[in-house]
Amino acid sequence: MIKKIHEQLKNGEVTSVDLVKGYLGVIKEKDQLLGAFLSVREEQALRTAELVDEKITQGHEIEMLEGIPFAAKDNMNVAGEEVTCASKALEGYKAPYDATVIARLKEMGAVLVGKTNMDEFAMGASTETSAYKKTKNPHDTSRVPGGSSGGSTVAVASGEVVWALGSDTGGSIRQPAGFCGIVGLKPTYGRVSRYGLIAMASSCDQIGPLTNTVEDAAIVLSAISGEDKMDATSAQSPAKDYTKFLTGEMSGVRIGVPRAFVDAEGVDAGIRERFEQAVEKFRGLGARVEDIELPYAKYALPVYYIIIPSEVSSNMARFDGIRFGLSVSGENVTDGYFKTRAAGLGAEVKRRVMLGTYALSAGYYDAYYKKAQKVRSLIRRDFEEAYKKVDLVLTPTSPEVAFPFGSKTEDPLKMYLSDIFTVTANMAGVPAISFPIGTSKDNGVDLPVGGQLMGKWFDEENLLRVADAYERN
Ligand code: GLN
Repeated sequence: MIKKIHEQLKNGEVTSVDLVKGYLGVIKEKDQLLGAFLSVREEQALRTAELVDEKITQGHEIEMLEGIPFAAKDNMNVAGEEVTCASKALEGYKAPYDATVIARLKEMGAVLVGKTNMDEFAMGASTETSAYKKTKNPHDTSRVPGGSSGGSTVAVASGEVVWALGSDTGGSIRQPAGFCGIVGLKPTYGRVSRYGLIAMASSCDQIGPLTNTVEDAAIVLSAISGEDKMDATSAQSPAKDYTKFLTGEMSGVRIGVPRAFVDAEGVDAGIRERFEQAVEKFRGLGARVEDIELPYAKYALPVYYIIIPSEVSSNMARFDGIRFGLSVSGENVTDGYFKTRAAGLGAEVKRRVMLGTYALSAGYYDAYYKKAQKVRSLIRRDFEEAYKKVDLVLTPTSPEVAFPFGSKTEDPLKMYLSDIFTVTANMAGVPAISFPIGTSKDNGVDLPVGGQLMGKWFDEENLLRVADAYERN
């Protein structure tokens, strides 16, 4: 899709200004209902588009993403503009600098049209913890779009933008992509700079693309990845053109299915059915699919919900009412902290701060946090072992299709289970992609089902190649 629009811009079949106006029109028409955006920057977007058009008229070459409208999740800094993380705690706060991904995209002339809704500080799986609004699934507006990158996902799935950026700590790109029938890629930890991404859990957070096709995901990854001196965890690997690896071929690729994990209770029959069909399709396309074991994968979710709240409790400490956003005055400094945080943070954020503070406290550190870190190492080792035998691991993206609003908000554990298949990739740091594998009926409605492929560390090449070959067929 991006390539085609790029050609049209180059050939003068369409101008960037008309393109951007067209998408802004779709936002005006649909977003009242869908609620994907927290802010739209019409003026700035059109100004960028005008510059791109001038460049094209003067006969200059343009970059692949140049002149094409995209959206970013509202946890990425755009200099001088509001960044809220969908929290009251940051209402009115303006980012002092550009996140590295934003700076790179601006440099390329990509057109940022707005910032999207999300679960508060990216904690959630339905976008319902946003302090501002509900985002609706375009396939059935009585259902959630998934989360936490629900706004970015809906913006792409409903044609409000060509592509969008999300962030994924435990599935926040892949799960909503699966729920809304699009492609979502979580790169290898360290592949994309986190500088200027407001942290949720620093050892897992990764920025990645939400797109209509696997090729588009490859294009966006090529643009945003690569070493960044401002992020000490960014890997020393140069950016490359990932579209070069999309051959349409997958014969001989070895794909492992962690049977015990996939067949566990709680996975919907419709999802299982689509998944088995996908397995057969992979076989038909020449892949060697075999069952594998990931013995510790079943502990990934409980381990995730010890480690992530621990990191959350530390990262959230900076919202003290003095440096950023909301500030409620109290009788003294401490009282001010309490009042600000009580007023600014929502229930899910508070829950995680409490859980994390507990898990990190002197008396419980060894029993919880340290133990969880040990099991995390074992999960990583599971993948190291598996990747001696197979190139990729295949699972469903989620155990069920998009669920109705409110159906899990009263029971956080139920909400957490939505991430059962996605958190493993973040625990191990491997790259993973969600792509559409069909639909499943729920209550009479056909809803998208996502398949997930996980790859070897820094092997986005193979991951994208195989997902693209599946999509083409
Ligand atoms: N739903 C998961 C959580 O609540 C994942 C969130 C994310 O990836 N940002 O932690």
